Amino acid sequence: MKCVICDKRKPKRYCPAKRASICPVCCGEKRGVEINCPPDCRYFVEGQKQHHKKIMQQRIRKEGAGSYVRRAELYKHNPEIFARLEMVFAAAYRSNRAIKNEDLVSALELAGKTLETEGKGLIYQHRSESSSANEISDNILAVISQYKDTAEIGENRVTLDYATAVIEEFLNEANFYMENYSNPSSYLIHILRYYPEEPQERAEKSGLIITP
Ligand SMILES: [Zn+2]
Repeated sequence: MKCVICDKRKPKRYCPAKRASICPVCCGEKRGVEINCPPDCRYFVEGQKQHHKKIMQQRIRKEGAGSYVRRAELYKHNPEIFARLEMVFAAAYRSNRAIKNEDLVSALELAGKTLETEGKGLIYQHRSESSSANEISDNILAVISQYKDTAEIGENRVTLDYATAVIEEFLNEANFYMENYSNPSSYLIHILRYYPEEPQERAEKSGLIITP
């Protein structure tokens, strides 16, 4: 018996997505990225928990606890905007697996610069040579504008300073992954794992749902 993914190593765990046994290496590398793990798979849940803990410890070791406290405070103020931005990153990577951490970093930098210009009372959208970075930046700014410029959003409304701080925080996190992980898309993979594909999308892809 061999792992149904790599066909090399010994299968040691049952994968509910593949409906077969796979090896721990394939599970660890591909879970939530190339394997559409159901969110209740215990290997998936446990793997996410371990990863989260590891990253937190590494960041605290490198940057001190201050950076973590700052992130927690920003997050507490508006968890929704964090989730919406992460969904933008996940969607970008899901639709184009060639996107790298550095594209996301330029997108965040462009969005940050555009907000900074806005703070000076000017409207100017900064662009780069990478079309993916431009596209992600547009989507980031669209989410931010929804929370910053729409009165109907109520108590979830954010200031320009807050939005800038959130962008800064994502930049720190993306840079941390770039410095510590060799996979050029490591940060995007990390984000994608938090936003598994909807069952609806999966069914559409596999042709189970026929749209008129
Ligand atoms: Zn394998």
